[in-house]
Amino acid sequence: MTHARHCAHCGSALAAGRCPGTEPLLTHDGLEYGTAAQIAHRLGEDVDAALVRRWAYRSRRPRGKLTGALPGHHLPGRGRGVTWYQLGHATRVEMLTRTSTVGLRRGELTPVA
Ligand SMILES: [Zn+2]
Repeated sequence: MTHARHCAHCGSALAAGRCPGTEPLLTHDGLEYGTAAQIAHRLGEDVDAALVRRWAYRSRRPRGKLTGALPGHHLPGRGRGVTWYQLGHATRVEMLTRTSTVGLRRGELTPVA
């Protein structure tokens, strides 16, 4: 058996056998923030860090379904070039994008108008 080098859930490179996405979220002004990997771990099994970053990219595009839905944040004192996402934003985006037949078949959330 070979040891995995990347997390099966979020796709991040493992550090000392552990996924950085399993670190606790940050709380800032009462809101929870995580890196793309951390956010991925709080969402569905089919959500990986790359998908979270794609959502953030779509959030920056004008006039799209996800425009403005997942802004990136740079938190005070947590610089190092890391982009943080608010868990509440990501949860909403997951709901908005959870319209595939796979999601529906699994009885996942359906968007409410
Ligand atoms: Zn992971």
